[in-house]
Amino acid sequence: MTGIPFILRFREFSFFGYLDGNAKRNQPTVPMRQLFVLILIIVLSTAAISCNDSEIQDVQNQFPPLEYAIAIHGGAGVMSRDMPAETREAYIRSLTEALTIGRDLLAEGASSLDAIESVIRFMEDDPLFNAGHGAVLTNTGTAELDASVMDGRDLSAGAIAGVKTVKNPISLARHVMENSRHVLFAGEGAEHYADQAGVERVENSYFITDNRRRQLERAIERDEVSLDHSGGSATGYFPESANDRFGTVGVVALDRDGNLAAGTSTGGMTNKRFGRVGDSPIIGAGTYADNRTCAISSTGTGEEFIRNAVAYQISAIMEFTGASLHEAASIVVHEKLKEGDGGIIGVGSDGSIAMVFNTPGMYRGAANSEGLFDVKIWD
Ligand code: ASP
Repeated sequence: MTGIPFILRFREFSFFGYLDGNAKRNQPTVPMRQLFVLILIIVLSTAAISCNDSEIQDVQNQFPPLEYAIAIHGGAGVMSRDMPAETREAYIRSLTEALTIGRDLLAEGASSLDAIESVIRFMEDDPLFNAGHGAVLTNTGTAELDASVMDGRDLSAGAIAGVKTVKNPISLARHVMENSRHVLFAGEGAEHYADQAGVERVENSYFITDNRRRQLERAIERDEVSLDHSGGSATGYFPESANDRFGTVGVVALDRDGNLAAGTSTGGMTNKRFGRVGDSPIIGAGTYADNRTCAISSTGTGEEFIRNAVAYQISAIMEFTGASLHEAASIVVHEKLKEGDGGIIGVGSDGSIAMVFNTPGMYRGAANSEGLFDVKIWD
């Protein structure tokens, strides 16, 4: 994917209506150069698109804009192609049901916010995903949940981090966005807020499944073993298997009124410690939505997504360079992040869809008003 940044390096030419660095605005350009650049763009764009098949189902620029569009993810990682058929089918079934909920709501004229909240609640309730019931466990065997939501109309946002008793964290995040003057509540304060807001709370044991208990036991074992080989580990996290590593859920949507929204919900990373919080509740890293550009939800190694302000950076590249959603997402996922860090889903204000990842797989799905309905794990 080296083609896209290379293309953008030529933005000083007026073809893009953009000036790089300290080049002067309205600088006259040379027609032959423009022709050369144009040919280069066509050649490199074709190469860029065909060399990465993780993006083949992206929906590129739409004109006129689509009536509605939605994309969902259930985490990115090293999903083995040898996973048991029943496991694969269970994921495909659940993703299909989740996508159907969102697609139908948008088709009926629901707001993008209502659609993403409904879909994420469904995924939080499904123990397959690392969010709500079935979330991964911390080093001490508890579930600690993070979530965020953003409204592309006015950049309003709400988030919660490290909650242990909120049944559907995404709904509390939305409540924070719509009814408080703040953006992010953490820990006990967030739970106190949930009581005031009338958002359902449950015992922590509600979130914990046998699978996740076993996963934690293996993670702790591996931790001891892994330390022998990985004293230099940057994160200190040693998830028990790459299959379990990422399972966060996220939804982005464009509704019939042209409004974008994004939401993300997670249990974080297995064996996390000391109140660790990842990117999922961080606006601009795990979640971002701006009607002028796009809505983004991230999944992967949260620390890297925070460092690179991934969700906002994609929006900013679109805003400041005129790049398409697909181009901007490809730059950030393939050039800024490292191989294996994770991926993003995005919907543009025109209904374009990007699902870009640098891991072998990402549980994902996309649907739109043109009849697209697709659910995938790998290519
Ligand atoms: N991004 C999440 C975190 O770091 C994990 C994930 O996406 O699965 O907490």
